[in-house]
Amino acid sequence: MTGEDILRLIKEKNIEMVDFHIIDLPGTWQHVTVPVSEIEEETFTRGIPFDGSSLRGFRSIEESDMLMIPDPDTAVIDPFHAVPTLSIICDVTDPEHVPYARDPRLVAKKAEAYLKETGIADISYWGPELEFFIFDSVRFLNQGHQAFYAVDSEEGYWNSGREGGLGQTIRPKEGYFPAQPIDSTHELRTHMVKALQAFGIRVEMHHHEVASGGQGEIDLRFNTLTKQADTVMMYKYVLRNVARQHGKAITFMPKPIFGDNGNGMHVHQSLWKAGQPLFWDETGYAHMSPLALSYIAGILTHAPALLALTNPSTNSYRRLVPGYEAPVNIVFSHGNRSAAIRIPKTASPKASRIEFRTPDATSNPYLAFAATLMAGLDGVRRQLDPVKLGFGPLDRNIYAMSAEELEGIRSVPGSLGEALDNLEKDHAWLLEGGVFTEDLVQTWIQYKRSNEVNPVNLRPHPMEFELYFNS
Ligand code: GLN
Ligand code: MG
Ligand code: MG
Ligand code: MG
Repeated sequence: MTGEDILRLIKEKNIEMVDFHIIDLPGTWQHVTVPVSEIEEETFTRGIPFDGSSLRGFRSIEESDMLMIPDPDTAVIDPFHAVPTLSIICDVTDPEHVPYARDPRLVAKKAEAYLKETGIADISYWGPELEFFIFDSVRFLNQGHQAFYAVDSEEGYWNSGREGGLGQTIRPKEGYFPAQPIDSTHELRTHMVKALQAFGIRVEMHHHEVASGGQGEIDLRFNTLTKQADTVMMYKYVLRNVARQHGKAITFMPKPIFGDNGNGMHVHQSLWKAGQPLFWDETGYAHMSPLALSYIAGILTHAPALLALTNPSTNSYRRLVPGYEAPVNIVFSHGNRSAAIRIPKTASPKASRIEFRTPDATSNPYLAFAATLMAGLDGVRRQLDPVKLGFGPLDRNIYAMSAEELEGIRSVPGSLGEALDNLEKDHAWLLEGGVFTEDLVQTWIQYKRSNEVNPVNLRPHPMEFELYFNS
């Protein structure tokens, strides 16, 4: 699509407003809305000015003038507006139209270009599985510097659900996946799927997830890296808005409820060259090619640092604990869901892929996918062998293994602070081909430390009152 095509679309569909989106450093959508009377063909080349200094992780106050350059290929009619509105994702540049190195979308595009340049593959496919909770109400009580959240859900056994109602609640950890009326959020998920389809997004299936409290999952069809990251942004936007229309709130927060499963974003991925899948080998372990095994080794080698980008919230590390189907050890496995990388069982070369199970949806998908690709490619370039490096394969339930049996098996970092320290020491692999810049990595580390790790550490925790109030 070109600017001209967009103008035609505006006329055809009687569009009244155009909503331009960019992605801030932590990975949320920011937007500005322009009436169509102000839109001309040049808008698409000239760009839309905005103040970069007010966005999280972007420029400082002295250099705030920036431009959004619309990507017409992302245009879609957005139903969550009062009048017919077209929504378009933009790239970010400075006033001289120089692409901005901290624009997450630029990093994703550079990662795709770098993949081609290496000659290892020409295309990568990404299939994220986002999980989320649906809540009836979320109360945020901010009393002085204490912060408490209270959440309610139609299904919540952990809150009001056990007290009354019709008894058709989901038992703890048995949400996957009884039919309605036990699955009481089924209808809402169906509305979400329809809305995603209206956005041009292909959905493979949807289902209730293991946790009660309305945990759900809607699965996307695989796509190329930048396009899939764009889709993740739309997905979160669409789901939040559909939930809101039905008087509900959703969250992708990795561990909103203690004692039940958390929200992951497992990321399936594969590399292809000249139309051929590179991960398949009939004779290899789990039908994996040597290239796939090196790619796995690259991810696992850099996992302690990589998690600062794929699991970048303080809450992320409350999910990565034993017993909730989330990975805790840095190993790979054929089918085992307690490993950081699972190789799904398939007999088809085309479906051959790996599933990186660690990530969650508090990540910025552009940076998370790009960083995972860079880690994998580093493994391929150095021809790393995951078996020699002690990353498995481990085809047993890791949660059930004793401390002795687990000896030598590495664990994921225990906190965001730890992951950021690891990233500080180990990030040369991200800088290859100029995909990430040193400035971006340092900005990320500083931003996360000062805006998330430290503020959380500084506040008294509700559990501390239970432990220490009367001590
Ligand atoms: N919710 C689990 C996680 O945190 C995954 C559950 C599943 O998809 N089997 O990763
Ligand atoms: Mg799934
Ligand atoms: Mg799932
Ligand atoms: Mg999965």
